[in-house]
Amino acid sequence: MRILKLQKKDLFPLLKVISREAELWAPTAKGDKFAYGRVLDFSRIAMDAVRTIIPPKKIMVPSLFNMFNFTEKGYQEDLSHVTDRILFGIHPCDIHGLLILDKLFSQAYLDPYYLEPRKKTLILGLSCLPDAYCFCKSTHTDIIEEGYDLFFTDLESYFLVWIGSSRGDDLIRLAPDFFDDKLTEKDIQTYTKWQEKRDNAFKTTVNFTRMPDLMELNYKAPFWEEVGAACLACGSCSMVCPTCNCYNVVDKLFLGNKPGKRLRHWDSCTLPEYSEVAGGENFREHKSQRLKLWYTHKLQAYVSKYGKPSCVGCGRCLVTCPVQIHVKSVADALEGHPVEAFWKKFAQEVSK
Ligand code: SF4
Ligand code: SF4
Repeated sequence: MRILKLQKKDLFPLLKVISREAELWAPTAKGDKFAYGRVLDFSRIAMDAVRTIIPPKKIMVPSLFNMFNFTEKGYQEDLSHVTDRILFGIHPCDIHGLLILDKLFSQAYLDPYYLEPRKKTLILGLSCLPDAYCFCKSTHTDIIEEGYDLFFTDLESYFLVWIGSSRGDDLIRLAPDFFDDKLTEKDIQTYTKWQEKRDNAFKTTVNFTRMPDLMELNYKAPFWEEVGAACLACGSCSMVCPTCNCYNVVDKLFLGNKPGKRLRHWDSCTLPEYSEVAGGENFREHKSQRLKLWYTHKLQAYVSKYGKPSCVGCGRCLVTCPVQIHVKSVADALEGHPVEAFWKKFAQEVSK
């Protein structure tokens, strides 16, 4: 793997050259938060964004789109959401999130609605420093060795640029004069210091190695009723999670000869309709059952199948859930640690 140096002043000129034939997407400010958006004015790129509200899965699979148009004669696929894109500013946890989605959308059958945009999107990763909610060190997703084309480590006055694929190499060839391939001893020391600073900045930890056993042992614990009682069934935890991928399809029909549409939209196993079947039966009627499923997927089932959790430690559920049901508070409760979260206080009030 080749590593090059790029001066800070050359970043935007580089992005200009390499995004001539593709849409450039990057985190931009949205109030006091950040969101991925198409960027035409490079000064809008939020270089200091820790996490975006919605992860980059929205760029691959929009929250609602038309899969195909159909008539009585057949159907015609609609891949209008697929276009050449460069995604800049994606952090290691979110690249790991995409690697998990790659697996899930290609294991039983190939899902073109995810895989086509994925193939056409170049991934330009960017290093970050954790805030109080990040715990990607606990999930071992704080570093990245695959899944990107270029990766930029910000060392204040310059970047170290890792080339992760032949497509990344092609990007470098579009603007070779911006890069310096002579790394010095001082560069290595600067990088090592930066790594130490980053390692020491993590404030939140979760002990994932214990989770599969603790999930099993707590399968019937009253704890699930406590979180279920406080949960609002809003689905936000799934919408913001980079590895949640459930969806539903609905047909839209029109009067006359107009073709029908098969629409696909994000779904969540925390919503009551998700497990409803014909006749009105619901296999997971209670919020406690639905949350148990969500956490089984995150902390136990994916570990059994792939040897790691399907949580990448991005912290989005920590900052999003209105009643503080999230991986950290659930893991703490499973471990028997004191929990300060709203759902716990709610449970204590209700039991008085
Ligand atoms: S479970 Fe929470 S912290 Fe883990 S990847 Fe999903 S949103 Fe991020
Ligand atoms: S756990 Fe929180 S974010 Fe998820 S559905 Fe319940 S209230 Fe909403």
